[in-house]
Amino acid sequence: MSHHNHGAGHVVDVAIVGGGGAGLNLVLALDHAARTSGRPAPSIALVDPVRRSGQDRTWCWWARPEEQPEWVDPLLTRSWPTMRLVNAEGAPSSYDLAPLRYQMLRSADLYAAADSALERLGAIRITAPAQSVSDGMPHAVVRAGDERVMASWVFDSRPTRPTGPASTTLLQHFRGWIVRFAPGSAALDENVATLMDFSVPQPRRGVAFAYCLPLSPDSALVEYTEFSPAVLEPERYDEALRAYLTRAFDGVAYTVEEVEDGVIPMTDATFARRTGDRLFRLGTAGGATRASTGYTFSAMQRQAAQIAELLLQDRLPVPPRPYPLRHRWMDAVLLRALDRGYIDGPGLFAGLFARQPSERVIRFLDGTSTPADELAIMSSTPTPAMMRSAVEDAAVRVRRTLGIR
Ligand SMILES: Cc1cc2nc3c(=O)[nH]c(=O)nc-3n(C[C@H](O)[C@H](O)[C@H](O)COP(=O)(O)OP(=O)(O)OC[C@H]3O[C@@H](n4cnc5c(N)ncnc54)[C@H](O)[C@@H]3O)c2cc1C
Repeated sequence: MSHHNHGAGHVVDVAIVGGGGAGLNLVLALDHAARTSGRPAPSIALVDPVRRSGQDRTWCWWARPEEQPEWVDPLLTRSWPTMRLVNAEGAPSSYDLAPLRYQMLRSADLYAAADSALERLGAIRITAPAQSVSDGMPHAVVRAGDERVMASWVFDSRPTRPTGPASTTLLQHFRGWIVRFAPGSAALDENVATLMDFSVPQPRRGVAFAYCLPLSPDSALVEYTEFSPAVLEPERYDEALRAYLTRAFDGVAYTVEEVEDGVIPMTDATFARRTGDRLFRLGTAGGATRASTGYTFSAMQRQAAQIAELLLQDRLPVPPRPYPLRHRWMDAVLLRALDRGYIDGPGLFAGLFARQPSERVIRFLDGTSTPADELAIMSSTPTPAMMRSAVEDAAVRVRRTLGIR
């Protein structure tokens, strides 16, 4: 495939605008698909003002090891076969995740792998913000700094506003510490990821929980997370983390080696996947963030793998829906119920795992469940509260359709 430089412009098959999680997953998927199929990879230009390299976030998600692309495994920091939940009263339950597992990928490792892939693919890298992206024939045009990229297809993951209105928007905001204990002093089980310890004090609106993901016998990523309307003063996260650690590890001393902060929007607003004949949106900007959980990574990977296939087959590379349409509705109902306080968040999540096979709950949280899974899931949520939320959600949609505010 082609890559020419026409005076001030580059002509490529694919322009990737935004080289974060979504853009770089696409780079890695293209590199992998080209190498395994023996077909030529499309020519690529990557536009991002930031050349990402460091440890700026940690991605965790559930996966079936044999179903994920081969390039993922060597990059993982860790994976856990067992997950543990702690309910609001402090009672723990453990769930064997087989055939799934929970796994961690550090951004520094993804960025480094993407750098090598970009080099192998002979990609052009433009380290300037894209000022405009416009559709056209025979090319779409991306302007960035003094450069002009003419591309058959543009995959844009720059942060953007949703294309539709939101009924509910919460923020998932958190701080994570990588903590180290003196050798042998902490009772950490390396095979068990504590996801959602709800025994932390709960906010007035929304839900809070702690995470503890062991990295070695003496270190762990510990996070304090809230799903609530607004971020906290920085000291509040530190206080919550200190209180959690003291309680969970009986006052054993530790040092903090790294800090990670994050805010992920949880909204039932809609995001477009296609904005022109040649323009597509990826990542959070394309609706890949699951409204009721904030999980994004596995949807980005599914989309990247499919787009890479389509591109190598010279087919229209429309990103597949990140989540089935029916999930958008369930997410809206769940998010509304959490936000308005119709359900008690800790009880909801802990209850789902207590009443359903964990694989089913995870498939649901991950966006890969079947309608039968979802019926079962909905039947183990508190019915009157969810009905109230569903009816209100439907009423909002009807009013919107009729143009009534
Ligand atoms: C700290 C943190 C931890 C997270 N952990 C998880 C997790 O454990 N599991 C999970 O599933 N999800 C997680 N997420 C959510 C989600 O996976 C990430 O936000 C992910 O990085 C989203 O990918 P993205 O490509 O949409 O956005 P980003 O990765 O933010 O990439 C967007 C890119 O666009 C670039 N950009 C901005 N403006 C321009 C411009 N004008 N021109 C060109 N480029 C531009 C930016 O520099 C950036 O590189 C986390 C998010 C955060 C913030």
